[in-house]
Amino acid sequence: MLLETRGLTASYGQFRALFGVDVTIAAGECVAIIGANGAGKSTLMRAITGILRNEPGMVLHKGEPIGALSPAAIMQRGIAMVPEGRRLFPSLSVEENLLIGGQMRKVAGPWSLEAVYDLFPILKERRRSPGTALSGGQQQMVAIGRALMSNPELLLCDEISLGLAPVVIRDIYAALPKIRAGGAAMVVVEQDIGKALSVADRVYCMMEGRVTLAAPAAAVTRAAIHAAYFGEAA
Ligand code: ATP
Repeated sequence: MLLETRGLTASYGQFRALFGVDVTIAAGECVAIIGANGAGKSTLMRAITGILRNEPGMVLHKGEPIGALSPAAIMQRGIAMVPEGRRLFPSLSVEENLLIGGQMRKVAGPWSLEAVYDLFPILKERRRSPGTALSGGQQQMVAIGRALMSNPELLLCDEISLGLAPVVIRDIYAALPKIRAGGAAMVVVEQDIGKALSVADRVYCMMEGRVTLAAPAAAVTRAAIHAAYFGEAA
Protein backbone atom coordinates (compact mmCIF):
# COMPACT_ATOMS: atom_id res chain seq x y z
CA MET A 1 0.00 0.00 0.00
CA LEU A 2 1.33 3.45 -0.90
CA LEU A 3 -0.25 5.15 2.08
CA GLU A 4 -2.32 3.86 4.95
CA THR A 5 -3.72 5.34 8.15
CA ARG A 6 -4.50 2.95 11.00
CA GLY A 7 -6.77 4.15 13.77
CA LEU A 8 -5.51 7.68 13.19
CA THR A 9 -6.40 10.14 15.90
CA ALA A 10 -5.49 13.83 15.90
CA SER A 11 -6.22 16.75 18.18
CA TYR A 12 -5.90 20.51 18.39
CA GLY A 13 -4.96 20.92 22.05
CA GLN A 14 -7.84 19.42 24.03
CA PHE A 15 -10.09 19.23 20.95
CA ARG A 16 -10.12 15.81 19.30
CA ALA A 17 -10.69 16.22 15.54
CA LEU A 18 -10.05 12.65 14.28
CA PHE A 19 -11.26 9.45 15.95
CA GLY A 20 -9.64 6.27 14.60
CA VAL A 21 -9.54 7.02 10.86
CA ASP A 22 -8.57 4.12 8.55
CA VAL A 23 -7.90 4.99 4.91
CA THR A 24 -5.75 3.37 2.23
CA ILE A 25 -4.36 4.77 -1.01
CA ALA A 26 -2.79 2.42 -3.54
CA ALA A 27 -0.13 3.49 -6.04
CA GLY A 28 -1.69 5.36 -8.96
CA GLU A 29 -5.13 5.41 -7.38
CA CYS A 30 -7.42 8.45 -7.09
CA VAL A 31 -9.31 8.63 -3.80
CA ALA A 32 -11.94 11.25 -3.00
CA ILE A 33 -12.57 12.38 0.56
CA ILE A 34 -15.87 14.13 0.97
CA GLY A 35 -17.74 15.51 3.95
CA ALA A 36 -19.32 18.66 5.29
CA ASN A 37 -17.52 21.65 6.80
CA GLY A 38 -15.57 20.59 9.87
CA ALA A 39 -15.79 16.84 9.16
CA GLY A 40 -12.01 16.51 9.56
CA LYS A 41 -10.88 16.28 5.93
CA SER A 42 -8.20 18.98 6.18
CA THR A 43 -7.10 17.62 9.54
CA LEU A 44 -6.54 14.23 7.90
CA MET A 45 -4.38 15.90 5.23
CA ARG A 46 -2.39 17.77 7.91
CA ALA A 47 -1.81 14.55 9.84
CA ILE A 48 -0.59 12.70 6.73
CA THR A 49 1.80 15.52 5.76
CA GLY A 50 3.20 15.87 9.29
CA ILE A 51 1.88 19.38 9.91
CA LEU A 52 -0.21 17.92 12.73
CA ARG A 53 1.66 15.43 14.93
CA ASN A 54 0.22 12.00 15.58
CA GLU A 55 1.10 8.84 17.45
CA PRO A 56 3.66 6.42 15.96
CA GLY A 57 2.26 3.74 13.69
CA MET A 58 -0.87 5.59 12.65
CA VAL A 59 0.37 6.82 9.26
CA LEU A 60 2.30 4.36 7.09
CA HIS A 61 4.01 5.15 3.80
CA LYS A 62 5.00 2.02 1.88
CA GLY A 63 4.57 0.13 5.15
CA GLU A 64 6.87 2.40 7.16
CA PRO A 65 5.60 4.67 9.94
CA ILE A 66 6.08 8.34 9.06
CA GLY A 67 4.24 9.98 11.98
CA ALA A 68 7.48 11.09 13.63
CA LEU A 69 8.89 12.71 10.48
CA SER A 70 8.92 16.46 9.79
CA PRO A 71 6.74 17.86 6.98
CA ALA A 72 9.91 18.41 4.92
CA ALA A 73 10.99 14.78 5.37
CA ILE A 74 7.53 13.55 4.41
CA MET A 75 7.64 15.69 1.29
CA GLN A 76 11.02 14.15 0.45
CA ARG A 77 9.28 10.78 0.43
CA GLY A 78 7.12 11.99 -2.45
CA ILE A 79 3.98 13.18 -0.70
CA ALA A 80 2.99 16.69 -1.82
CA MET A 81 0.01 18.77 -0.80
CA VAL A 82 -1.96 21.47 -2.60
CA PRO A 83 -3.12 23.24 0.55
CA GLU A 84 -6.55 24.71 1.08
CA GLY A 85 -6.25 28.43 0.35
CA ARG A 86 -3.35 27.90 -2.12
CA ARG A 87 -0.68 29.65 0.02
CA LEU A 88 1.46 31.05 -2.79
CA PHE A 89 4.48 33.22 -2.07
CA PRO A 90 2.70 36.49 -2.94
CA SER A 91 5.71 38.62 -3.87
CA LEU A 92 7.23 35.94 -6.10
CA SER A 93 6.30 35.43 -9.75
CA VAL A 94 4.39 32.45 -11.08
CA GLU A 95 7.62 30.93 -12.35
CA GLU A 96 9.45 31.50 -9.07
CA ASN A 97 6.61 29.86 -7.15
CA LEU A 98 6.81 26.85 -9.46
CA LEU A 99 10.59 26.61 -9.25
CA ILE A 100 10.43 26.57 -5.45
CA GLY A 101 8.31 23.42 -5.69
CA GLY A 102 11.04 21.81 -7.79
CA GLN A 103 13.76 22.89 -5.34
CA MET A 104 12.02 21.21 -2.43
CA ARG A 105 12.46 17.72 -3.88
CA LYS A 106 14.79 17.14 -6.80
CA VAL A 107 13.95 13.83 -8.47
CA ALA A 108 13.46 12.83 -12.08
CA GLY A 109 9.87 12.44 -13.19
CA PRO A 110 7.25 13.62 -15.65
CA TRP A 111 6.92 17.13 -14.18
CA SER A 112 9.03 20.11 -15.18
CA LEU A 113 8.34 23.79 -15.77
CA GLU A 114 7.47 23.03 -19.40
CA ALA A 115 5.15 20.14 -18.45
CA VAL A 116 3.30 22.37 -15.96
CA TYR A 117 2.99 25.07 -18.63
CA ASP A 118 1.59 22.46 -21.04
CA LEU A 119 -0.95 21.46 -18.39
CA PHE A 120 -1.97 25.07 -17.65
CA PRO A 121 -0.96 27.22 -20.67
CA ILE A 122 -2.24 30.43 -19.02
CA LEU A 123 0.57 30.11 -16.47
CA LYS A 124 3.18 30.40 -19.21
CA GLU A 125 1.58 33.64 -20.38
CA ARG A 126 1.57 34.94 -16.84
CA ARG A 127 4.90 33.49 -15.74
CA ARG A 128 6.38 36.85 -14.73
CA SER A 129 3.28 38.06 -12.84
CA PRO A 130 3.38 38.07 -9.05
CA GLY A 131 1.11 35.60 -7.30
CA THR A 132 -1.05 38.47 -6.05
CA ALA A 133 -1.86 39.63 -9.61
CA LEU A 134 -3.52 36.33 -10.53
CA SER A 135 -7.17 35.32 -10.43
CA GLY A 136 -8.21 32.73 -7.87
CA GLY A 137 -8.28 30.03 -10.52
CA GLN A 138 -4.81 30.92 -11.78
CA GLN A 139 -3.49 30.89 -8.21
CA GLN A 140 -4.97 27.42 -7.80
CA MET A 141 -3.19 26.29 -10.97
CA VAL A 142 0.10 27.62 -9.58
CA ALA A 143 -0.50 25.80 -6.30
CA ILE A 144 -1.11 22.53 -8.19
CA GLY A 145 1.88 23.13 -10.46
CA ARG A 146 4.14 23.92 -7.51
CA ALA A 147 3.22 20.60 -5.87
CA LEU A 148 3.75 18.72 -9.16
CA MET A 149 7.21 20.21 -9.58
CA SER A 150 8.40 17.93 -6.75
CA ASN A 151 7.32 14.94 -8.89
CA PRO A 152 5.26 13.40 -6.09
CA GLU A 153 4.06 9.81 -5.96
CA LEU A 154 1.08 11.03 -3.96
CA LEU A 155 -0.61 14.38 -4.54
CA LEU A 156 -3.03 15.57 -1.86
CA CYS A 157 -5.48 18.22 -3.15
CA ASP A 158 -7.39 20.03 -0.42
CA GLU A 159 -10.57 21.67 -1.73
CA ILE A 160 -9.12 22.83 -5.03
CA SER A 161 -12.52 24.03 -6.28
CA LEU A 162 -13.33 26.16 -3.23
CA GLY A 163 -14.46 29.68 -4.13
CA LEU A 164 -13.87 29.30 -7.86
CA ALA A 165 -16.32 29.93 -10.71
CA PRO A 166 -17.81 26.80 -12.35
CA VAL A 167 -15.97 27.39 -15.63
CA VAL A 168 -12.65 27.60 -13.77
CA ILE A 169 -13.44 24.49 -11.73
CA ARG A 170 -14.12 22.66 -14.99
CA ASP A 171 -10.67 23.65 -16.33
CA ILE A 172 -8.93 22.53 -13.16
CA TYR A 173 -10.78 19.23 -13.03
CA ALA A 174 -9.96 18.64 -16.69
CA ALA A 175 -6.29 18.67 -15.67
CA LEU A 176 -6.63 15.92 -13.06
CA PRO A 177 -6.72 12.94 -15.48
CA LYS A 178 -3.57 14.34 -17.13
CA ILE A 179 -1.90 14.48 -13.72
CA ARG A 180 -2.89 10.87 -13.08
CA ALA A 181 -1.49 9.90 -16.46
CA GLY A 182 1.88 11.02 -15.06
CA GLY A 183 1.55 8.15 -12.57
CA ALA A 184 0.89 9.94 -9.27
CA ALA A 185 -1.76 8.70 -6.88
CA MET A 186 -4.14 11.43 -5.81
CA VAL A 187 -6.37 12.33 -2.91
CA VAL A 188 -9.08 14.84 -3.79
CA VAL A 189 -10.69 16.46 -0.76
CA GLU A 190 -13.96 18.03 -1.83
CA GLN A 191 -17.24 19.42 -0.64
CA ASP A 192 -18.52 19.17 -4.23
CA ILE A 193 -19.54 15.51 -4.28
CA GLY A 194 -20.25 15.34 -8.01
CA LYS A 195 -16.83 16.70 -8.88
CA ALA A 196 -15.13 14.32 -6.48
CA LEU A 197 -16.92 11.27 -7.86
CA SER A 198 -16.18 12.31 -11.44
CA VAL A 199 -12.45 11.71 -10.96
CA ALA A 200 -12.17 9.18 -8.14
CA ASP A 201 -11.77 5.39 -8.12
CA ARG A 202 -12.89 5.19 -4.50
CA VAL A 203 -14.58 7.53 -2.09
CA TYR A 204 -14.46 8.03 1.65
CA CYS A 205 -17.02 10.17 3.41
CA MET A 206 -16.18 11.70 6.78
CA MET A 207 -18.40 13.12 9.48
CA GLU A 208 -17.34 14.50 12.85
CA GLY A 209 -13.84 13.07 12.64
CA ARG A 210 -14.83 9.56 11.55
CA VAL A 211 -15.06 7.70 8.24
CA THR A 212 -18.75 7.03 7.65
CA LEU A 213 -18.51 5.53 4.16
CA ALA A 214 -15.84 3.78 2.11
CA ALA A 215 -16.87 2.58 -1.34
CA PRO A 216 -15.89 2.34 -5.00
CA ALA A 217 -16.95 5.61 -6.67
CA ALA A 218 -18.80 3.76 -9.45
CA ALA A 219 -20.90 1.72 -6.99
CA VAL A 220 -21.86 4.35 -4.43
CA THR A 221 -25.48 5.48 -4.31
CA ARG A 222 -26.84 8.95 -3.67
CA ALA A 223 -28.75 7.60 -0.66
CA ALA A 224 -25.61 6.07 0.86
CA ILE A 225 -23.70 9.33 0.43
CA HIS A 226 -26.56 11.30 1.94
CA ALA A 227 -26.61 9.04 4.95
CA ALA A 228 -22.84 9.17 5.41
CA TYR A 229 -22.64 12.93 4.87
CA PHE A 230 -25.42 13.97 7.20
CA GLY A 231 -25.55 10.98 9.53
CA GLU A 232 -29.11 10.12 8.63
CA ALA A 233 -30.51 6.71 7.85
CA ALA A 234 -30.34 5.94 4.12
P1 ATP B 1 -13.48 22.43 5.96
O1 ATP B 1 -14.24 22.14 4.74
O2 ATP B 1 -14.09 23.51 6.80
O3 ATP B 1 -12.01 22.61 5.76
P2 ATP B 1 -12.80 19.90 7.13
O4 ATP B 1 -13.57 18.67 6.92
O5 ATP B 1 -11.54 20.03 6.39
O6 ATP B 1 -13.72 21.13 6.86
P3 ATP B 1 -11.22 20.35 9.44
O7 ATP B 1 -10.69 21.67 8.98
O8 ATP B 1 -10.32 19.19 9.40
O9 ATP B 1 -12.54 20.01 8.68
O10 ATP B 1 -11.77 20.56 10.93
C1 ATP B 1 -12.17 19.47 11.76
C2 ATP B 1 -12.48 20.01 13.14
O11 ATP B 1 -11.30 20.53 13.73
C3 ATP B 1 -13.50 21.15 13.13
O12 ATP B 1 -14.33 21.01 14.25
C4 ATP B 1 -12.65 22.38 13.27
O13 ATP B 1 -13.35 23.41 13.92
C5 ATP B 1 -11.48 21.89 14.09
N1 ATP B 1 -10.24 22.61 13.76
C6 ATP B 1 -9.68 22.73 12.54
N2 ATP B 1 -8.53 23.43 12.60
C7 ATP B 1 -8.37 23.77 13.90
C8 ATP B 1 -7.36 24.50 14.62
N3 ATP B 1 -6.30 25.01 14.01
N4 ATP B 1 -7.55 24.65 15.95
C9 ATP B 1 -8.63 24.12 16.58
N5 ATP B 1 -9.60 23.41 15.97
C10 ATP B 1 -9.47 23.23 14.64
